[in-house]
Amino acid sequence: MEELARLPARRAGRRKVGYPRFKKKGRSRDSFRLHHEIAKPGIRLATYRRLRLPKIGEVRLHDSGKCLARLIGRGDAVIQSVTVSRAGHRWYASVLAKVTVTLPTRPTARQVSAGKVGVDLGVKSLAVLSRPLVPGDDTTAFVPNPRHLRHAETRLTKAQRALSRTTKGSARREKARRRVARLHHEVSVRRAGQLHALTKLLTTTFSEVAVEDLNVAGMTRSARGTTERPGRRVRQKAGLNRAILDTSPGELRRQLTYKASWYGSKLLVLDRWYPSSKTCSACGWQNPRLTLADRTFHCGNCHLVIDRDLNAARNIAQQTHGAPHHPVAPGKGETQNARRATGRPPSPRAGRQEAQKREDTGPPGPVPPQRSDPLTSPPPEPPGQESAKSL
Ligand SMILES: [Zn+2]
Repeated sequence: MEELARLPARRAGRRKVGYPRFKKKGRSRDSFRLHHEIAKPGIRLATYRRLRLPKIGEVRLHDSGKCLARLIGRGDAVIQSVTVSRAGHRWYASVLAKVTVTLPTRPTARQVSAGKVGVDLGVKSLAVLSRPLVPGDDTTAFVPNPRHLRHAETRLTKAQRALSRTTKGSARREKARRRVARLHHEVSVRRAGQLHALTKLLTTTFSEVAVEDLNVAGMTRSARGTTERPGRRVRQKAGLNRAILDTSPGELRRQLTYKASWYGSKLLVLDRWYPSSKTCSACGWQNPRLTLADRTFHCGNCHLVIDRDLNAARNIAQQTHGAPHHPVAPGKGETQNARRATGRPPSPRAGRQEAQKREDTGPPGPVPPQRSDPLTSPPPEPPGQESAKSL
């Protein structure tokens, strides 16, 4: 016990340190897990549509269990356990199985000919690709943002308001609560479906997928501030945060990581300090005054005019490099830092806050003049000097 007491009282995440508590209806996610003896499996598919659970018996499935049944039939999968959970108005049975698969060690010829793609994640478009998905059709470089949460906003507002008007502990309150939960669940199902489709498409189409390392928690931090120093534009920032989180950038990255190893492609990650939006993708000139409102990038050096996010996506593709001499172990799917950067860049904006993606966050404070400010340094830096360093 003394050993335990001396440990620092910290844990990952935001959860406070404390005694363990039992799960409780209404407080925790409703779920339970069942195990079985693998020699005489109590968890098995009775038919493609019926799952047999120990003690409970057969339950009918909404989805087909055909894929799993065939894997088991071939001896390629062994069921380990099943987790039954409730989300919104539905019950889910999540079957954990040990599956034997042969992961591809290299991309297919089709993936190789498609090459590398840079992906800029955003809110206006969910993702902007450095090259179109369909060659020749430039509109396919922009993946529209479905904005699922916004579409449900009216219905959610009504349901939330109805809930807040009910008496605590009443049957109608429970009914109203379920309606809100159902709406949120429907949003999350749509979001997940869309995300899986996109990440699969990217990892199966291209041999290398390059993304930016985003500090999602930092980017979506509240602008509230403190009582002494209240923040500005708090509501606007809250709306932006909601829109960013609706695109689930962290989950997208997680899916790309494991799907890259499934489909033989490679995920490259550009370090979070690279100014991908402020840099010209053609010549390397930088515009430190670029704000979130500037939707188009105008180069002050080579006069390139390009969509802001497309410019960023091209930078992400150009600035990431796979390491052919150090192949990533299969199953890892990710190179740690494709630019091989060591920590902070040479001139960070001296010690303000913690590391985060500056371009999309923070108060619009004065920007110190950087390399080639169009106003303070009239002779633009010769092209090549900046880009040569990072190539
Ligand atoms: Zn340029």
